[in-house]
Amino acid sequence: MPIDAEDQTRQQDMRAPVTSAPLVRLEHVDKTFANGTEAIRGFDLSLFEREFLSLLGPSGCGKSTVLRLIAGLAAPTGGTIMWREGAKSNDRRIALVFQEPTLMPWATAFDNVYLPLRLEGLPKRRVASRVETALGLVGLDDVAGAYPRELSGGMKMRVSIARAVITEPDLLLLDEPFAALDEITRFRLNDDLLALWQDKRWTVLFVTHSVFESVYLSNRIVVMTERPGRTAAEIPIDAPYPRRDGFRNSAAYGERCRAVSAALQRAMTP
Ligand code: ADP
Ligand code: MG
Repeated sequence: MPIDAEDQTRQQDMRAPVTSAPLVRLEHVDKTFANGTEAIRGFDLSLFEREFLSLLGPSGCGKSTVLRLIAGLAAPTGGTIMWREGAKSNDRRIALVFQEPTLMPWATAFDNVYLPLRLEGLPKRRVASRVETALGLVGLDDVAGAYPRELSGGMKMRVSIARAVITEPDLLLLDEPFAALDEITRFRLNDDLLALWQDKRWTVLFVTHSVFESVYLSNRIVVMTERPGRTAAEIPIDAPYPRRDGFRNSAAYGERCRAVSAALQRAMTP
């Protein structure tokens, strides 16, 4: 290659945008269950590190299925799921939070949060301060000794989040975690989750069927079609963080909600 051309190539390389590889990429993924139900078909998704990505779609479109596939709890029947550097999902720390807090009723908040570390064989005495820190992160310093029955719905969800983040996950998967909560509690948990995400810089994949919630929280929204779900639209939400009530009440928020709502409508029109 003549020197000139070589120089040119090098210059072009330097001008090229620095695009990091996605943490995980789903390409044309299908999932058909044993009973013949086709949950997703040709589903594409790239999830980048430190992103807060929402998966938005109607009930039954395959959102939970996508999370389960990423978590390695189920295998795709078609397509590929690629982790960066070729690692498999079971080499990753992945934490899942469900709509139901699924706490052990006979155990205190402390012991519920301790559970993942107990499963790793870590003695309670050695990790007590980690458990306390995790409870503190979700604003539950005072209720470590309380049992789930003594906690409100919002507090139980906080325990569930603390239990997920105590493992310091590479990827936090949340499946409609706030759908069963009243609106005020939900707003508060939205804010607290965002503050935590900004502080800890986790990668978050958040499933919701709420346009308003997805716009408030996300860097980017992936809108799914009805079942069999596939990606219908990808919408960046370029509003700066922190997003507080000021954003919730702003014209910019309203505009973005309308745009996402319209994309969802289009996705649901066959
Ligand atoms: P979403 O979370 O978007 O509401 P799901 O991923 O839970 O949707 O489910 C997508 C579709 O797959 C639904 O029709 C659901 O009934 C079906 N489905 C989910 N899990 C199973 C399963 N294990 N066996 C058969 N069908 C399933
Ligand atoms: Mg679901």
